[in-house]
Amino acid sequence: MARALKINCGCGYQKSLAVGGGRASISLNYIRHSFSPEELSGFERAIAKNEHDYSFHSRIAHCEHCKDIISAGVLRYSLDGKTEFIYKPCTICGKTVIPFNDSKDDNKFDKVIQCPKCAKSVQLEDDSSVMWD
Ligand SMILES: [Zn+2]
Ligand SMILES: [Zn+2]
Repeated sequence: MARALKINCGCGYQKSLAVGGGRASISLNYIRHSFSPEELSGFERAIAKNEHDYSFHSRIAHCEHCKDIISAGVLRYSLDGKTEFIYKPCTICGKTVIPFNDSKDDNKFDKVIQCPKCAKSVQLEDDSSVMWD
C-alpha cells in the first residue's frame, strides 16, 4: 500500500514524501535501467532462482549532499534466505542516499526523524491529503 508521510517542523521545513508500494508491476527492464550492473549482481542471482521474488517501492532516506529527506526507490529481493535492499541514488543530485531504517517490514520505520534544516526531532505524520496509486 502506498501512502504519503509529511514532515511539518516548527522551523518552517515542510515536506510530503511517498512511501510504500504501488509499483508492483514494475518491469525488470525498468530495474535494469535504474541500477548499475554491479549493484544488480546479487539481484540477478536472486531472480535466476526465483524470478518473481522481488518488489520495488519507496522509502524515506536522507541525502547528505542535498541535506534533505527524500523518497527513494528501493529494490528488495531475497538471496539465500537473506533480504537485501538496493536504494536508488538521490533523484536530485544522483549521490548515494542513507536509509533511515533497513527494516524488513516496509511499514515499520522510525516515526521520529531529525529535521534536515534545524536538526530538531520531528514527527512523521500520515499525509491523508495526498493520494498515490
Ligand atoms: Zn541529493
Ligand atoms: Zn526544523
